[in-house]
Amino acid sequence: MPKTDRSAEAEGRYPTARTVDDFARNLATVRERIAAAAGRSGRDATRIRLLPVGKTVPEERLRTAARAGCREFGENKVQEADRKRRALADLDVRWSIIGHLQRNKARDVAAFASEFQALDGLRVAEALDRRLQAAGRGLDVHVQVNTSAEDSKFGLPPDELPAFLAELPRYSSLRVRGLMTLAVLDTDVDRVRACFSLLRTLRDRAREVDPDLIGPGELSMGMSGDYEVAVEEGATCVRVGQAIFGARATPDSLYWPEKTTGRGEAPPS
Ligand SMILES: *Cc1c(COP(=O)(O)O)cnc(C)c1O
Repeated sequence: MPKTDRSAEAEGRYPTARTVDDFARNLATVRERIAAAAGRSGRDATRIRLLPVGKTVPEERLRTAARAGCREFGENKVQEADRKRRALADLDVRWSIIGHLQRNKARDVAAFASEFQALDGLRVAEALDRRLQAAGRGLDVHVQVNTSAEDSKFGLPPDELPAFLAELPRYSSLRVRGLMTLAVLDTDVDRVRACFSLLRTLRDRAREVDPDLIGPGELSMGMSGDYEVAVEEGATCVRVGQAIFGARATPDSLYWPEKTTGRGEAPPS
């Protein structure tokens, strides 16, 4: 597959981390930037979780990242996560699924994930709950909201969130931790920021309606290109891949099939 303009561009900005030192340096840089963004907005950086996203990164480099201190990994696809957690079963790491889930994959998530950040439908909630009940497990979940009003994106429309949250207590194995979003793919920071601030507003409103429905009200938002803006807008978890592991050669359209425009991305070839 040919490289996209975006990945070529990203290559310079995000060199590939191969050694423990590379990972330690990248993690330190990201943490410093989180701290600076937190400082600008009067927030406590120690309360902001950095979730390393290892999609497309081979197992051996995840192992090196673990030696540099990573204790959890976010993966967009269940199958990829399942393969990796088997290969790294000797490590003490947790797996967070951060991508859209098909119902027929609910069993795998229920079997090994410590968290699912992309809950966006009651049928998936029901399928997960059934599998979790059978396994005697619980699962932390974030509800994914589409804050960019692009109908190509996964996530609930903002106006459907209150009714959705009200249904979730029926699925008692799901522990709602908060909300998750992907910002608009745009170089205009104001438009990106608007997505993050909308997620915060939705969280605040949900708390006013019924604080029990939103748990601790966490906000998972921000990736390599926009995590500092997300922190300024209240992120409690940032999901960072390329700034830790290095640029991905594969276009993101493989992970977000419909998102083929913006930021110079080419459609899959
Ligand atoms: C890949 C991915 C990220 C991280 O993106 P980077 O550009 O590598 O930081 C964050 N969230 C989701 C849902 C992803 O699939």
